[in-house]
Amino acid sequence: MSALFSHALNHPAAGPAQAPGTVAAPVWIDSHCHLDASEFNADRAAQRQQARAAGVALCVLPAVHAPNWAEVRALAHQHGDAYALGIHPLYVPQATDADLAALDVALHAHRDDPRLVAVGEIGLDFFVPELCTPAMRQRQEHLYRAQLQLARRHSLPVILHVRRSADRLLKHLREVGTAGGIAHAFNGSLQQAQAFVALGFVLGFGGALTFDRALQLRRLAAELPLSALVVETDAPDIPPHWLYRTAQARADGSAQGRNSPLELPRIAGELATLRGLSASEVAQATTANALRALPKLQALLPGAALHPKEKPADAPIQSADAAIKKIASTGAAC
Ligand SMILES: [Zn+2]
Repeated sequence: MSALFSHALNHPAAGPAQAPGTVAAPVWIDSHCHLDASEFNADRAAQRQQARAAGVALCVLPAVHAPNWAEVRALAHQHGDAYALGIHPLYVPQATDADLAALDVALHAHRDDPRLVAVGEIGLDFFVPELCTPAMRQRQEHLYRAQLQLARRHSLPVILHVRRSADRLLKHLREVGTAGGIAHAFNGSLQQAQAFVALGFVLGFGGALTFDRALQLRRLAAELPLSALVVETDAPDIPPHWLYRTAQARADGSAQGRNSPLELPRIAGELATLRGLSASEVAQATTANALRALPKLQALLPGAALHPKEKPADAPIQSADAAIKKIASTGAAC
């Protein structure tokens, strides 16, 4: 284990308050869930309710572009969840600089909204070929950097989309400076993980780790310090293996399985198995880590105040490289 992580490990994870002598059910935070996606139009409230009954106390709903900012905000309020506002790299082709100005206005307008916890989902995607032309790469970097600056101006952490882009993401993080946040759907090397952690980030793990063939990702999930991990579904995307339909099955007419926040405890249970821990231990640690990475979540989870020593230190600066988002995705990278 690197010295980098040992400091954080010395501090016990703070969990929800618990009466002496009782065993609390695990409390989970789905740190990345697109509950606004149309896949949930038929049963959104029921899915959220069932997830809550299964222990998913909070979902963080990242926005993807200006047209869905109002919706993610409304859903977060409706379901007692949290949200982030931003422009996702996959929406860069349609985004304008006026959207950046609108983001600045929205972050200011909702600065006292306790449910607005981050700027996101932002980042760089160097996997999708259409986003990899020189002009589009430049455009992605412009919008990403401008959103980092907005996050800094509004004192908010960021939720990062990392897909074959970790080096460039880190370069801008180092240059602009942020309050840390979450590198979502992380799938890089240990060194890359360390670089994000050194900048005040935690790493999001989800359905991809449930696949036996995801050897490197599973090794990372097992070996990284527990203090560096949060759990997420990215619902309705990145289905775990029990929902995943192969390309052949889809060609034969099966729809791809829909991921849901309801799956979070089972996905996290696989993480617990990989690490030889109980589900409760993983829940307690990952919930504390999410509260540390997105501090405004603390006010949304009663009794979950952080131990004072767990407050994030000012992030030092380091380097790293690439990551891949969706294990189910295929296609040429650029
Ligand atoms: Zn996402």
